[in-house]
Amino acid sequence: DRLTLESELRRALARDEITMLYQPIVRLEDRSIAGFEALMRWHHPKLGRLPPAEFIAIAEETGLIVELGLFGLERAARQLVEWQRSMRGIEPIFASVNVSSRQLLRHDLIQDLRSVLARAAPARGTLKLELTESLVMENPEHAAQMLQRIRDLGAGLALDDFGTGHSSLAYLQRFPFDTIKIDQSFVRAPAKGKRPVILRSIIALAHDLGMEVVAEGAETEADAAELFQLGCQYAQGYFFGEPMTAREAQQLIAAHAYEAAQ
Ligand code: C2E
Ligand code: MG
Ligand code: MG
Repeated sequence: DRLTLESELRRALARDEITMLYQPIVRLEDRSIAGFEALMRWHHPKLGRLPPAEFIAIAEETGLIVELGLFGLERAARQLVEWQRSMRGIEPIFASVNVSSRQLLRHDLIQDLRSVLARAAPARGTLKLELTESLVMENPEHAAQMLQRIRDLGAGLALDDFGTGHSSLAYLQRFPFDTIKIDQSFVRAPAKGKRPVILRSIIALAHDLGMEVVAEGAETEADAAELFQLGCQYAQGYFFGEPMTAREAQQLIAAHAYEAAQ
């Protein structure tokens, strides 16, 4: 039950039960690896591998998210630098890490991020934070300030699950995002004629605002081909790879680098 999970989650970090998986984000133009999204997993001793849906809400309510979030940020930053070292000469890949509102609303996030960046030192702009619109809209004034400080530190900012909230489009110009991630519900939309119209409009809007676009939930070759045809630069989804361990990600990077060198 929930109370048990809560107290187990308190001990999970110390017991080494929290890990990060990495899902590739691919350039649609040539299907090369552009980066990875870091996704948290909890290896529960009895329940097995738990997805974030099972524990992030608990972590947010109890405040444990601050500790978990910092762990994820540190882990992903260190991993990113290791990957970048292994692929000298090629354009450096990026890693994006999900951030909760509880983390953004704390001023310490800036301090945490500064020390993570100082210690790991990835290429400028290649460590990105992913935030959802609901989070930003909760307190737009404060969020705008925090986001600008995050950018000033040299981190990237992606607006996650774009299109699922109720945000005013006008906010898009106020916040310093460099990337929009189109929610998978748009990519999966069954309505035949409408999908391309909506997708094309979001993509054009983002590009006109100077942002890059990642489509989430590309599950088939047809999805990937259509997204590319609609002008989308990047995609993420089971078609290109499920969330994988850092070692598997490293192998994927090496295989791509080898292919590119041929
Ligand atoms: P998200 O940031 O939108 O992450 C994308 C989710 O979609 C991931 O689920 C991923 O496994 C899944 N996904 C990727 N490709 C496909 C696809 O082709 N089809 C389908 N159906 N799903 C796909 P996951 O790993 O279960 O994470 C769920 C959510 O939990 C994330 O949504 C994010 O909001 C949150 N989350 C994950 N890791 C963290 C973390 O470290 N910190 C915080 N605060 N939240 C996290
Ligand atoms: Mg995300
Ligand atoms: Mg998302």
